[in-house]
Amino acid sequence: MQSTPKKILITCLTFGSLSMALFTVSCKSEKSALVQNSENSAVAEASPEARIDSAKLLRMIREKNAEIAGYQPSAKRDFDLLHTELDLAFDWSNQAVIGRAKLKLTPYFYPQKELVLDAKDFEVGAIYLLNGEAQSKLNYRYDEKQLRIYLPELFNSKDTIQVEINYIAFPDRNSGSGSEAITDTKGLYFIDPLDTIPGKPTMIWTQGETEHNSKWFPTIDKPNERFTQLFKLTVPDSMVSISNGVLVKQEKLENGLRKDYWEMKLPHAPYLAAIAVGNFGKVEAKWKNIPLGYYVEKGFEKGAAMVFENTPEMIGLFEEKLGVDFPWPKYDQIVVRDFVSGAMENTTASIFMEELRLDEREAIDSEWDYIIAHELFHQWFGDLVTAESWANLTLNEAFA
Ligand SMILES: [Zn+2]
Repeated sequence: MQSTPKKILITCLTFGSLSMALFTVSCKSEKSALVQNSENSAVAEASPEARIDSAKLLRMIREKNAEIAGYQPSAKRDFDLLHTELDLAFDWSNQAVIGRAKLKLTPYFYPQKELVLDAKDFEVGAIYLLNGEAQSKLNYRYDEKQLRIYLPELFNSKDTIQVEINYIAFPDRNSGSGSEAITDTKGLYFIDPLDTIPGKPTMIWTQGETEHNSKWFPTIDKPNERFTQLFKLTVPDSMVSISNGVLVKQEKLENGLRKDYWEMKLPHAPYLAAIAVGNFGKVEAKWKNIPLGYYVEKGFEKGAAMVFENTPEMIGLFEEKLGVDFPWPKYDQIVVRDFVSGAMENTTASIFMEELRLDEREAIDSEWDYIIAHELFHQWFGDLVTAESWANLTLNEAFA
C-alpha cells in the first residue's frame, strides 16, 4: 500500500510551520500504526484508533510552534546584491563616515519595484538610479534602520540595476550592548580620533559580525548574501589603510590626503567586509604566491614578526588537510586597540585585539597561535563558505 504513507506525508506537509521534530514524531507514529495495519492483510483500512486526530495534531502544532518561536530561518531574498562600490571619507572630529555607495543588484526571483537596504543611523542624501552616464533621482523612505527605495518600474530577475546612495553614517548613534562574543554594535570605531589621549594611537577599524556593517554602508546585511567590492578610502597620507582583497591603486589628493582603492574580485558575505586605518607598521611574509601582512603599531614590528611567524606553516597545513588552496589573493592580520572581541576573520583581513601587540622580548613567550589558527581556518570555513543564517553560526565556530 504505497498511497497511504503518501497521504500522511501530505497531511504533515500542509502544516508548513511545523517544526522538523514534530514532523518526524507525528508522521512516524501514525506511519508505524499504518504499517502495522498493512502487515495485517485482513485489514484493508486503518482502524479508527490509527486515524489522525486532527484537532489533537493542531493543538500539538500550536504548542510546538510556541516552543520554537525563536527559530531563525534564512533571510528571504528579494534582491541579490552583486557588487558594492564605496567611496568613503572620514570626519574624525564628528566620528562620522561620509559615504557614496554604488550598489549593483538584480531581483532574486520575483519582479521587484522596491529595494529595501539595511542602513543604520545614517543621514541619507540623494539616491539615484544609474544607467550608464544617465542618472535619475529616486524617492525613498528611511526609518533609521532600513532604507526603502522606490524604483521607477518593475524590474525582473533578468535586469541588473545600479543605485547610488549618498549618506553620512554615525556609528556612535544608538550603539547598544552586543552579544557575549562581540560586546558592541557600532560597526565602525574611531579610536582616539583627535589624538587627545597620550600613548593611544589614532585609528579606525570595523567589526561587521553579525549585522553591524550596515552601520557604515548600505547593504543587505544577511549572511546568505554575497558580493564583490571596490572600496575607495580617503585617509590621511601619513596613515595606511587595509581592507579586503587587493590594494590596486593609490591616489594623492590635496590637504595631505590620499585615496586607496581596495578591490575584492571574489564574492563574500557582507559581515566579512572590513577596513582598518592607522599609523601601522607592516611586517611582510609569504606563503607560496600569497602575500602576508602583519600590521601592528609602529615600534612593535619585531614582536609581530614573532607572534605571527607560524602563519605560513599554518596555511600549508590547512591546505593539506582540506585539499583546498588558500582561496583569497592575500592575507593580512591587523592588531588594533580596544577591539570588541578576541579577533575577527574578515576576508583577507583578520583583526585582532591588542593583547597580540608584543615587543620583541614579550613575543618570546607569545602563546597566540590558537587564535591566529582559528581566524585563519575561518578563511575557508566562515569566509569561503559560511552559515546561511545566524542560527547555523555554531558550524563556523566549531570548524574553526
Ligand atoms: Zn571564530
